[in-house]
Amino acid sequence: MRVYNFSAGPATMPLEVLERAQSELLDWRGSGMSVMEMSHRSPEFVGIAAEAEARMRSLLSLPDDYAVLFLQGGATGQFAGVPLNLTAPGATAAYVNTGAWSKKAITEAKKYLDVRVLADESASNYATVPPEGSLEVPADAAYLHYTLNETIGGVEFPYVPDAGEVPVVTDASSTILSRPLDVSRFGVVYAGAQKNLGPAGLVVVIVRKDLLGRARREVPSAIDWTAMAEADSMLNTPPTLAWYLVGLVLEWIEQQGGVAGMGERNRAKAELLYGAIDASDFYSNPVDPGARSWMNVPFLVPDGALEKPFVAQAAEAGLSGLGGHRSVGGMRASIYNAMPLEGVQALIDFMTEFERKNG
Ligand code: PMP
Repeated sequence: MRVYNFSAGPATMPLEVLERAQSELLDWRGSGMSVMEMSHRSPEFVGIAAEAEARMRSLLSLPDDYAVLFLQGGATGQFAGVPLNLTAPGATAAYVNTGAWSKKAITEAKKYLDVRVLADESASNYATVPPEGSLEVPADAAYLHYTLNETIGGVEFPYVPDAGEVPVVTDASSTILSRPLDVSRFGVVYAGAQKNLGPAGLVVVIVRKDLLGRARREVPSAIDWTAMAEADSMLNTPPTLAWYLVGLVLEWIEQQGGVAGMGERNRAKAELLYGAIDASDFYSNPVDPGARSWMNVPFLVPDGALEKPFVAQAAEAGLSGLGGHRSVGGMRASIYNAMPLEGVQALIDFMTEFERKNG
């Protein structure tokens, strides 16, 4: 029996994708072998890789002047990849701090350059994003980096910051393809796969081509965007199985009406869950309503002693992964693309019943 899995990542996958992968596992389309057994240089795998990239381009309506890279090392690798690929030693870059993942990106970037934090939302306990138009991006900044969706805090930017001529770089790990995104406003968009794209092991980097060729000499080859773009992301052996599975997920998103269709479904799911939380005196969500994430919904109960029973009883009822991040506690429901509305409704039904018993 499959449960509703609210884990923040690795996260729930579309059942249709798992079934398709299962049916192709031993013999991929008459090749007589599994995708995981194929040479990454074989025509079969090169085709799988190219198809996934083409689907990503079409789903995001990517202009031709963007490269799409499929790399390893996670979004964490790109916390270093961004400064190492975009700047020379001695550079300055602008960052926005909206929570845990911003902080990690900033800490890593400080190893390589001078970080200027333009906005720090600690005063609201990371329940807000800076108001639109409030960021004063220095003209000498090599780029502006922000975290599009804070997976732990459940804070999502409802707008793309304007940085003038300075390239905007965003960590879209926990929100990519959940709703339309105008990539032409960005220099770089990167995202770990294990939330909305597929299994762990792969990070997608979408980079405007004029930003290639700026890497430091010492950038590790495995995260060298320029070298990877020239090698179709196959400078070394890529995570072939993850790449194939991402391709299947992208095909599934197309069947759901693309990012527009996903966006409508995700809006409905988020409205349903936040609506239930707001309507109750028992549950609360601390995030500014204008910056609430559609993907990660943290919530609290009035008494911290009820958190463990909530998570345990929910798991018994087939609702898995609802514990908050270990750094913040509370509860968190991650409702990525693959979480159906029925799963959100089942969670709300459980919450209502738990409140009735404990409220
Ligand atoms: N950024 C965000 C927004 C994340 O949610 C995560 C993972 N939860 C990371 C970065 C780090 O990703 P990885 O573990 O793939 O390095």
